[in-house]
Order: sequence, then C-alpha cells, then structure tokens
Amino acid sequence: MTEPEPHSGVYVDGAWRAGSDGRTFEVRNPADDSVLATLADASAPDASDALAAAAAAQSSWGATPVGTRAGLLRELHNAVLERAEEFADLITAESGKTLADARGEVGYGAQFLAWFADQASQLPHGEHYTDPAGAVRILTQYRPVGPCLLITPWNFPLAMITRKLAPALAAGCTSVVKPAAQTPLTAVRLVELLHELGLPAGVVNLLSTTRAVEVSEAVFASPALRKVSFTGSTGVGSALLRAGAERVVNSSMELGGDAPLIVFDDAEPDHLDQVLVAKLRNSGQSCIAANRILVQDASADAFVEALAERFHALRVGAGRAEGTDVGPLIDDAAVRKVSRLVDEAVAAGARIAAQAPLPEGPGSYYPPTLLVDVPGECAIAREEIFGPVACVSRFKDEADAIRTANATQAGLASYVFTQDLSKALRVGTALDFGIVGVNRGFVSTAAAPFGGIKTSGLGREGGLHGLDEYLECQYLSLPVNSPT
Ligand code: NAD
Repeated sequence: MTEPEPHSGVYVDGAWRAGSDGRTFEVRNPADDSVLATLADASAPDASDALAAAAAAQSSWGATPVGTRAGLLRELHNAVLERAEEFADLITAESGKTLADARGEVGYGAQFLAWFADQASQLPHGEHYTDPAGAVRILTQYRPVGPCLLITPWNFPLAMITRKLAPALAAGCTSVVKPAAQTPLTAVRLVELLHELGLPAGVVNLLSTTRAVEVSEAVFASPALRKVSFTGSTGVGSALLRAGAERVVNSSMELGGDAPLIVFDDAEPDHLDQVLVAKLRNSGQSCIAANRILVQDASADAFVEALAERFHALRVGAGRAEGTDVGPLIDDAAVRKVSRLVDEAVAAGARIAAQAPLPEGPGSYYPPTLLVDVPGECAIAREEIFGPVACVSRFKDEADAIRTANATQAGLASYVFTQDLSKALRVGTALDFGIVGVNRGFVSTAAAPFGGIKTSGLGREGGLHGLDEYLECQYLSLPVNSPT
C-alpha cells in the first residue's frame, strides 16, 4: 500500500491516514468546476477511531495547564495570520467567495483563537461558600465537558471551525472535527498547523468525508461522546438533537436564519452600503444574510430605485478575479434552488427591479437580483434564500415592522436602520432574534455572543459565554464542622 499524502484529509490520533475503505473524493472550485484536490473519504471505522483517540486524550488534555492550552491557541493565531493570504486564497478556491470576503473571514476566524486564549486565563475558578443554615460548605468547580463532535458548514470554512475548536481547546476538551465535504481544504491546513505546533495526538481529529450521516452515526454510537456542536441547517440540527437525546449528549446548535432588515424613513443617508453588506457578503450565503428587506412606505420607492442602481453595477465573477463584487454560489444545486425560488415568485407576480449580468463560461453563478412586490405566499418570502437575491417589501409603522419581522420560526439575526436611537432600542428589544444589528450590516466579531433563538439554535458562540458551552459545573458538598 502506498503512503497516504500528508494532506489526506483524515487525521486520527496525531497521524494522517488513508480512509479505512480506500475511497476518495474530489474538492472542486465553484468558479470554474476545476478539481482542487482529492482527499481520503472517511467512513464509519475512521470515525470510531477518531472518537476513541479523542476519548483517550481527554484526561491528559483536560489536565494540561490552562496557560499551556492558551499558549497553543496564541501560536495558532499567529501561524494563521502569518499565512493569511494562503488561507484567503484557499477559502476563495474551495468556497467561491471573493478574496475580500475571504480575507475578512481569515481575520474573523483568527479572532476566535486570540479571544479564547484570553478567555482561558479567565476560566471560572469556582466558588466556596456556606449555605444559609450554616450546615454545608459548597465548593464549585468547572471541568471540560469531554470529547466533542464539531460539525461545520461550507460557507465559512475557517471561522466556523475556530469558533468551536478554540473554546473546546481552551476549556480542555478533545474533539473530532467534521468539515463540509465542499470545503475541507481549509480545515486540513488548520490541522496541519496544529500538528506542526506540537498538539498532542488525539486532542484534535479531522474527518473529511462525503458520508456525513454514516460518520456522525458512528461517533454518536460511542458513549465516550459528551458533546455535539453543530453549525448548519435546522433540519440536520434537529436530527442531531434526536441522535443525542437518548444519552443526553450536551448540544450547541447554530442553525438557519431568516433575517429581517428594517429600514425606517429616518435611516442614515449612507445605509445602502450596510444593506449591501448584510445581503451580499459571501454571495448571500450566510446564516445572518438579510433575507427580508422591509422598508417604510414613504421612502420605499427611492430605496428600491437606489438599490436597483447598485445591483445593476455589481460585477459577478470568480472570487480571485480583480474587482469581483459577487462570486459564484457553492455548487450547481445551490443555483438551481435559488432559481426555483425566484422563478416561482415571478410566476406569482413578483417583479425583477434589477439583475446584474453574469460572466461567460463555466461556474456556479446566479445573478444578483432585486425582487419587489413578492406575494406573501411565495416560498422566497418564507424560506432562507441563501443566494444574492434581495426581496424588498413595505411597512406602515413601527408596530407593522415588528409584527412582520417576527412572523418567522427562525430567530438568528435582524437589522434596524434608523437615526433615532431610542426607536432602535425599542424595536430591537421587541425583535425575537438573538442578534440585532443597529445601523450596521456586519455584526460578526469573536467578542459577541453569536447565536439564535427559536429554530435558529441553542447556545452561544464567542463572547463572554462561548467557553461555558464546553464546561460543566460540579459542586462538592462538605460539612461545615469536620467530624470529630
Ligand atoms: P447542512 O446542514 O446541509 O450541512 C452542515 C454540515 O452538516 C456539513 O458538514 C454536512 O456535511 C453535515 N451534515 C449534513 N447532513 C448531516 C447529517 N444527517 N448528520 C451529520 N452531519 C450532517 O448545511 P449547509 O448547507 O452546509 O449550510 C447552510 C446552512 O447552515 C444554512 O441553513 C445556514 O443558515 C446555516 N448556517 C448557520 C450558521 C449559524 O451560525 N447559525 C452559520 C453558517 C451556516
């Protein structure tokens, strides 16, 4: 048997390996459909081995001094930033996003490494107190939850991993990382760096695979699994919650959104730039992308006219090409899904107010499209679009805006544009969403507790609470007076 390439894509117990059944899969560039790499395709035995390695490494990693764990995260942070262009290029190649978006993601992804290195030094140390009757001393302490399964989507190939892996490592948890099959190369590069930095074997294991169900079932089959942290669609998140229910596996879920973006008549004059960021970052393939743009009646016509002008001028093309504003979607299936949503809306009476031209040649492109007068019963008015299509509708007043914005099962991000900050506070507080961007279309930072309510998920990533997701609290109950 030939030695597997170092970047085989499957990393278990500190070593790269060929998949146990020898299968491989291709990673493609959505800008031109070229093959970027062929990786080992992990299957159930690889997944069982990965979890066994994580379980074996758990007690020593959990007992490794916090300063050592934080030091490793700082070194990884520096190593990623030293290779920022390499990472940006890789992210663009496998996800299709523009280089500007990819560079932004590298900065954002690296932030989590630095943030959780700092948070690690402030790990809760526990308390020591006596109950009101004076009979019992309570001693609380925190410990790592244990081996974790971290499953991530393709839209942010680096940041969605560091947002989970950094707090897991800081808290003392070992893990099995399963990136999306479309974008495993960034994950491979990150794990290569961890290996070079001397991460002990078994602490982080990587399963590149096209067989997500088989692999996750094999991991869930082991009682050693203590936590699953998942970012992806709500349907898969629910399935994973069901899979963990019997053994009550600790779960964090970052799921789909349906973000309303509310523009009041008194919005700042330059709000269009922010609206475009909220809609078009990553070609609209973001869980916090503005899904429904609601504009107050008096300014709606001018808003649509100005936004149409901006949409007409957008340059669509390969993410690596100079001057590209909007890159391709992740694959042809994504293009078909967005086309179906738009075609159905147009057949039902929606009007295309603007559409950017498409480049010639291959690639998974969909033209940035501005839709108005979308009938409420259309799927595009209710589903996560996940593409560069803006749907604009009108509202009368504050109450109308809040009612429409909240009429969804999702509850991840929302946006409010107004110069009246007391109105922003009032409306923001009334919105049933975990995140409210006020006069900003960009709300992501490692310092914020990112996460949603309702069907958008459970738990928070980043901020002052991100570490709690990977810790358990234990108390010792001691008598106040020692027995004689
Ligand atoms: P997806 O749910 O199809 O896939 C996400 C990950 O889960 C991938 O790694 C995939 O291989 C894996 N997977 C798929 N089926 C699985 C199964 N049955 N068991 C175990 N793993 C499985 O989602 P996607 O299409 O990759 O990403 C888009 C979705 O992710 C959107 O709904 C988006 O809103 C959401 N998302 C949410 C956040 C957030 O922070 N809330 C961030 C990014 C994306």
